[in-house]
Amino acid sequence: MLEIPILGRKIAVRYVSDKELQTLGNDTDLLGFFYRNTIYISTSITGDQAKQVLLHELNHAILEITGLSSVLEDKQEEAVCTALESYLEIIRNKKLTEFLR
Ligand SMILES: [Zn+2]
Repeated sequence: MLEIPILGRKIAVRYVSDKELQTLGNDTDLLGFFYRNTIYISTSITGDQAKQVLLHELNHAILEITGLSSVLEDKQEEAVCTALESYLEIIRNKKLTEFLR
């Protein structure tokens, strides 16, 4: 388990089996889930896919901590979290990294 501080709150990150993940999220296609200050990531994914799912779930955590999730419909929140996953792609951009040196 890992703990990440976000805006003064500690968010735990745990790798869990698909079976455990599905019982938490009640969805058979889940790869990640944020619930009660914990981000659950499926053990079936690794590397870049795990980072992308972690980033997506961190977005959910940030929206909850800031209170924005309470003013968004579920579909809107999902769209925001998915859109913000693109930061991972931006961070990986070698030209940007070289430019910022
Ligand atoms: Zn989501």
